[in-house]
Amino acid sequence: MALVEIDNISKNYQMGEVQVQALRNVTLSIEEAAFVSFVGPSGSGKTTMLNLIGCLDKPTKGKIAVDGKQVNDLDRKQGAIFRGSVFGFIFQAFNLFPVLTVHENVEYPLVMIKNESASDRNEKVLKALEAVGMLDQQNKRPDQLSGGQKQRVAVARALVTRPKLVLADEPTANLDHKTAVNVIRLMRDMRDKFNTTFIFSTHDPGIMEEAEIIHTLEDGQLTHSTPRPLNGKEGKNDSNI
Ligand code: ADP
Ligand code: MG
Repeated sequence: MALVEIDNISKNYQMGEVQVQALRNVTLSIEEAAFVSFVGPSGSGKTTMLNLIGCLDKPTKGKIAVDGKQVNDLDRKQGAIFRGSVFGFIFQAFNLFPVLTVHENVEYPLVMIKNESASDRNEKVLKALEAVGMLDQQNKRPDQLSGGQKQRVAVARALVTRPKLVLADEPTANLDHKTAVNVIRLMRDMRDKFNTTFIFSTHDPGIMEEAEIIHTLEDGQLTHSTPRPLNGKEGKNDSNI
């Protein structure tokens, strides 16, 4: 069974009198350790798709299973617990706490889980920061970092709980092209290192090229799914961003 199984889902939003069909009859599956991107113009349904996979919202019709669990049936509380145990999230606007250090930002998801000792937390944070090449910046605050460095910290924060699946909604939209490519390649390196599945969205053709499978959305419909085997030919990320 695939890690994510999406079976004929649709999502409608009611806007007063008007019904918006954000997703229409989408069926696809995502394998464990895949590096997948959802692409399409603004309004095509990318965010809706990621929110449904991440159990932040429910489909109007159809079924979604993640890691063997039917997530449609989860209530709010069950959804929150499942989210915390299976997913890491990366956002377009980085969403780091400005008053916390890099170390404290990455530690935050572990503090939320609450059953970790301080020394276990510290070990995991240092490992995650080392993996993204930000160990030497751990005492800085976000406003002392570049955009690329902030997103590296956000990648570390998403990975620190060792999630099966990281969801990143337009993670490079606030970065210049070179930095954006490096952040995506860092994510791919993290997939290689930890076997974490990554699903990200983008409307940038230069960024979608970095994915191994591209799912294209148009007007809420999945128009094509393109595998792109990389054969190890692509450049490594440049940690100097
Ligand atoms: P994308 O991320 O590709 O820009 P979205 O998933 O955000 O697309 O939106 C898909 C469609 O659903 C758009 O027409 C958008 O206006 C609509 N939509 C998204 N979220 C809501 C909402 N909460 N209420 C009403 N309409 C929404
Ligand atoms: Mg969006």
